[in-house]
Amino acid sequence: MSNIEAAPAELECGSAADDRVRGQLIEPREVPLGGPRGMQVRRTLPRRARSLIGAWCFVDHYGPEDVAATGGMRVAGHPHTGLQTVSWLFSGEIEHRDTTGAHARVRPGEVNLMTAGAGIAHSEYSTADTTVLHGVQLWVALPERSRFTAPGFEHFAPPVVEHEGARALVFIGSLLGCTAPVRTHTPLLGAEITLPAEREVRIEVDPAFEHGVLVDTGEVTASGVEATAGGLVYQPPGAGELSLRSADGARVLLLGGPPLGEQIVMWWNFVGRSHEEIVEFREQWQAERDGAGTGRFGPFPQQWAQTLPAPALPNARLRRRG
Ligand code: MN
Repeated sequence: MSNIEAAPAELECGSAADDRVRGQLIEPREVPLGGPRGMQVRRTLPRRARSLIGAWCFVDHYGPEDVAATGGMRVAGHPHTGLQTVSWLFSGEIEHRDTTGAHARVRPGEVNLMTAGAGIAHSEYSTADTTVLHGVQLWVALPERSRFTAPGFEHFAPPVVEHEGARALVFIGSLLGCTAPVRTHTPLLGAEITLPAEREVRIEVDPAFEHGVLVDTGEVTASGVEATAGGLVYQPPGAGELSLRSADGARVLLLGGPPLGEQIVMWWNFVGRSHEEIVEFREQWQAERDGAGTGRFGPFPQQWAQTLPAPALPNARLRRRG
């Protein structure tokens, strides 16, 4: 079979003894979350250069921010379809409420995984006690076979695992002998890793996975590529090891999974497979806000004084990516 690319890339073929694959830096885009004072987030997925890493389809990094200045996180009830949300904090606390009846506090070092499946709605507010908010909001695209699964909510507080001077919290999937019990629908990895100063840390990874190293604090060289806070280093599949190095110490998130192999349509808070499907999700959400829906998104918690209206669709048809 022939390579039919118009401009095939030059491949560097290393020896079997050193098959580390060089990475690619994805720079963040600053995105305002809205509101008069409004939080700013740094988005590295999706970007023009890359839509997915495994099934990870959305990476927002925010803070550390002074909640007294920005107002913190105040996101009223809003819907999701076809994805899982993964909330991970470094500092602060968020109160979560959703239409499965789940009511939880998101705390640093503890993962909260919400499965939207066919449809869910949730609200997120930083708590009154929070002074500094700092964390990530991650989304996972559900594969075709389970994207209409039942909605759900899971919580897990991973133990610390030490490795070559680094400390890791494995919150999704398996790494360094630790396995998180939360349910995913494709093989997936998510871990927070605190790196020591002036020491290379080598971590064995699944060579079938592609990986992303999101830098939270510090400066990091990952797979031979330098990145600063907010940057994401992409490493393609094929490497059985990940190399991380930081001169002064750093904290990163390691995300990974085998390439999803499906194209998705993402718009607002929905993941689907076609423009028509997104239009339908939007109409159903608007109808439920008016008390006339099909119940796709579940019964609204009585604490909700308001919910977010869906924005207008763009004039152009939504396109698939992935
Ligand atoms: Mn949400």
